[in-house]
Formats: sequence, C-alpha cells, structure tokens
Amino acid sequence: MGRKFFVGGNWKCNGTTEEVKKIVGTLNEAKVPGEDVVEVVVSPPYVFLPFVKSLLRSDFHVAAQNSWVRKGGAYTGEISAEMLVNLDIPWVILGHSERRQLLNETNEFVGDKVAYALSLGRKVIACIGETLEQREAGTTLDVVSEQTKAIADKVSNWDNVVLAYEPVWAIGTGKVASPAQAQEVHAALRKWVHDNVGAEVAASLRIIYGGSVNGGNSKELASQPDIDGFLVGGASLKPEFVDIINSAT
Ligand code: PGA
Repeated sequence: MGRKFFVGGNWKCNGTTEEVKKIVGTLNEAKVPGEDVVEVVVSPPYVFLPFVKSLLRSDFHVAAQNSWVRKGGAYTGEISAEMLVNLDIPWVILGHSERRQLLNETNEFVGDKVAYALSLGRKVIACIGETLEQREAGTTLDVVSEQTKAIADKVSNWDNVVLAYEPVWAIGTGKVASPAQAQEVHAALRKWVHDNVGAEVAASLRIIYGGSVNGGNSKELASQPDIDGFLVGGASLKPEFVDIINSAT
C-alpha cells in the first residue's frame, strides 16, 4: 500500500503576526508537488491558528501543537479538542518530547490524549523518541516501543495517526540522525506495529522522522524505505522548508 509522503512544520513557541504572515507568504508562493504526492501541515502556536488557516493556500493544512486529554472545562491554560473541531483545525501534534520532558507528560497521558483527539475526528501526529542517555544505554527500541504501546493500548483505528520518530538528542541540536540510524528505528517500529497491531496498519501507517531535518539532509533521509516524511522544527520557519517538502519526489 502506498504511503503518501507527509511533511509537518512545527513552529513551536515562535512568531509574531508579521513573521507568521511572511512565512505563510513564502509557502503560498512555493512550487511543490500536489496534494496527491505530499501532505503538508503547518503547526503555528494556538493564537495564530485561525489567522494562519485563513491565509494559507488550500492544499496545505494546519495543526495545533497540543490538545487537552478530555472534554474542555475548568482547565486553565488548556485548549480542548472540541475547540479544534469548532475552528475546523484538522490536525494536532501530541506527545512532543518538549512536552514530555518540560511538562512531565507520561506515555499513558499521551495515549489518552491521542485517543481523545481521534474520538473527535482530529488527525494526530503522535511523537515518540529516546533521549541520548537511553540511546547510549542501548534501550532505544525498548523506549520507542513502550511509547508506541501506550498509544496502541488506547487506539483501535490508526487511519488518522502519523507516528513521528523524533530522537530527543536530534531535536534542535543540529545533530540529525543518520539515514541508517533513522531507518533502523523506523523499520523496528513498523515491525512492532505489525506484530502488535496488525499487518495492514503496519503497511499503511506513516512513520515520519523529526530532529534537525533541513534542506540539505532531507533528500537522503527521504530515500529510506521506512521514512515517510518529516516533522520539522527550526527549518520550518525558513524558506528551506519548501526544499524539505520537495524532497518528497
Ligand atoms: P528541529 O525540531 O527540526 O528544530 O530539530 C523538530 C521537532 O521538534 O519537531
């Protein structure tokens, strides 16, 4: 089964109205393959979501960077999946390592958030990845399997999930995983999904790589058989994001 290439831009906690306009302007003018070849999703901070959605070309889509674990209510500072439905925001990034590490989000909590967002018809970019200590201790595959299991425990339909493998040591560090390193983990994850979820899901699930992806390294990473796209942080704020999208072909 063909897996459509996926490129996500995670703008994190960056941008002013003027900067956001400029980034969207660049994207709107970019020459990229059609939606049948590559799915492009950008994730601005919450406060810019409706603005970006209103300006962005119609073949690109928007994602929130987080959503609350259950129905909205008395949760100061949180944004509910219901609000994403209301504003027609189709995608949400969940389980990013910055939230796991800085805000103590556990595997179980992330699994619950993924399940809740999916139950409201959102599409989810679910992030997993090991720290440098875990890689050096040789536990990478155990760690990412556990993180994936916590999602699999709560999710029965994977149609609207993209799994983002983002080694923590590669995020924002300029130390990209080598194509072979990334491929090894992606292949292991696909095998885990095959053995624990099912062959069909394993064949169709897009497993994307994130961590210091840029216009110079994306093409070679994209050529790996189990790398189905990217989640891009720093470079998604720059014109080179267009080169990364174009590495789909
Ligand atoms: P980076 O971030 O591309 O800046 O390393 C990736 C991410 O955190 O999604």
